Amino acid sequence: MTSQAETLEFQTEARQLLQLVIHSIYSNKDTFLRELVSNASDALDKLKLAAFQDKDLGVDTDDLHISLETDAEARTLTVRDNGIGMTRDEVIGLIGTIAKSGTAEFIRELKANKDAAGDTDLIGQFGIGFYSSFMVADKVTIVTRHAGTDEGVRWESTGESTYTIEEVADAPQGTAVTLHLKPANEEEHLFDYTDSAKLTQIVKRYSDFITWPVRLGEDTINSRKALWARPQSEVSTEEYAEFYKHVAHDWTDPLETIRLQAEGTFEYQALLFIPSRAPMDLFMRDGKRGVQLYVKRVFIMDDCEALVPEYLRFIKGVVDAQDLSLNVSREILQQDRQIQLMRRRLVKKVLSSIKALDAEKYKTFWAEFGRAVKEGLLQDVDNREAILEISSFESTASAEDLTTLKQYVERMTEGQEHIYFMTGDNRSTIENSPHLEAFKAKGYEVLILTDPVDEMWVEAVGQFDGKQLQSIAKGEVDLSTEEEKSEAAQRETDFAELLTWLGSALNDQVKAVRLSTRLTTSPACIVGDSFDLSPQLEKMYRAMGQPLPDIKRVLELNPTHPLVAKLHESFGAGADKAGLAETAELIYGMALLAEGGELVDPARFTKLLSEKLTAAL
Ligand code: ADP
Repeated sequence: MTSQAETLEFQTEARQLLQLVIHSIYSNKDTFLRELVSNASDALDKLKLAAFQDKDLGVDTDDLHISLETDAEARTLTVRDNGIGMTRDEVIGLIGTIAKSGTAEFIRELKANKDAAGDTDLIGQFGIGFYSSFMVADKVTIVTRHAGTDEGVRWESTGESTYTIEEVADAPQGTAVTLHLKPANEEEHLFDYTDSAKLTQIVKRYSDFITWPVRLGEDTINSRKALWARPQSEVSTEEYAEFYKHVAHDWTDPLETIRLQAEGTFEYQALLFIPSRAPMDLFMRDGKRGVQLYVKRVFIMDDCEALVPEYLRFIKGVVDAQDLSLNVSREILQQDRQIQLMRRRLVKKVLSSIKALDAEKYKTFWAEFGRAVKEGLLQDVDNREAILEISSFESTASAEDLTTLKQYVERMTEGQEHIYFMTGDNRSTIENSPHLEAFKAKGYEVLILTDPVDEMWVEAVGQFDGKQLQSIAKGEVDLSTEEEKSEAAQRETDFAELLTWLGSALNDQVKAVRLSTRLTTSPACIVGDSFDLSPQLEKMYRAMGQPLPDIKRVLELNPTHPLVAKLHESFGAGADKAGLAETAELIYGMALLAEGGELVDPARFTKLLSEKLTAAL
């Protein structure tokens, strides 16, 4: 029975993307075939696995393959597989919509770029999977039947706003994608995709490693050699790059290729890649990990979290283990001792490969993935040293270049004992913060840490190369010389009474008031005790809904600042205490604003300030 064809609309984002694809002048249109063959290969992997797991599925897996069928007269090319196929709902969900996170952003970027530069090829940087068919075809037909079901589905679209979908009775199991080709036009990089020589050339170039046979007529046109099993010297950079694009669903070349062969009782091969750009879902909760597990050349699972830790979730590739069972599950993998050893070795290999990157590549790597890698400082205590070694940070030493901790230590000046850092929301708040003054004056370098994760790891790590990591906004910092120290002691005595009085006047806001040695130009700053939460961390915890007690910090005054000196003088002369308390409150508010903090009662602050200003005029 064949039902009526129904006309449905593409989801908005899908429609926008299709428009961009149809009108794209992307010069490498041949890649559509790589995408279709790659999808077909995935579908065959899935069927093989499904048949293995469910003996009652009742599908024939003896001759799994991909075939290319051409009709020069009708100008069609069909890419057919006898893989898992799709149900009607899957066709609508997978083909009619784009589920990938970040797509909206991608489309915005594509559009903006199109307006600005015209011919830059963002499409080539993102990858568009099945939709790339519309670069070379003005109509596409899919006939598909999901393994284990009777009902086939026929889908058709010109890539404009709608598609039709209907049931078909006699669809073979698997999927056939038929492209109604646009006229060949070499100037627009559209070739004759019914030409056997051209098709063979494209498959050899992009899909040679696909483990399933790709047939054209009688011939199998791919060599089917698993790249990870071939000697490294025999595989070209281009072959690795194409394989990367297949496993990573990326269209950009990888930044680095990593190979590992383990022999012995537990034998495995790994072929891993560092991408050259971060995926848009790198920091999303449901973001996937990119390593696939094979057992003796048979695909077992995507996104194998047992093989790579979360902080290396951007690593893509394949691990092929010889001695695992084909029906190994995620749960078993998590507990398997061999797998844990393998994971440990893979992590070490990845970290050492990052360390070995040249300066240019390392810079790209860190800009794209540094934030994720730093999570490892918390998650992976065993490799903490190695992760610290490949990490780099902003610092007061340079506005442009990042520094490693090793470089920082090499630059440490005579007498400097600690590695100083300050955390905050952004570089300019930190650079202008009062806490930094004495360090600037002394010429001490300070690391500028602005990622939320920095707050966490600095606490956990504590030290590098025997040097303590010390926040310049916490604890008592004393950079003074002996002479300065004795002056300071004298001042402590002079100011003692004022400080005690201020402490009780500001009791609601601070836990103590003391003199500062870290200030040179500002009147005051607020510092935490060594074990206090930093204001950023406090904000983060509160945002996550963590109940926290009120956290009070210490107000430090700069005794050489005219405002503080005057306050001291007036206090000594027995001035009106209520008026002095208001001035103290203003000084506290200013210190809070200077570190980028928020006033508890801005209305009161403004009122006090305007009163004082009026009185002074
Ligand atoms: P991607 O392959 O990057 O996920 P595509 O747009 O190419 O994106 O495909 C979307 C989805 O449609 C695939 O993830 C897959 O589930 C399904 N699909 C595509 N081609 C086939 C096919 N030949 N057989 C079975 N499913 C397919």
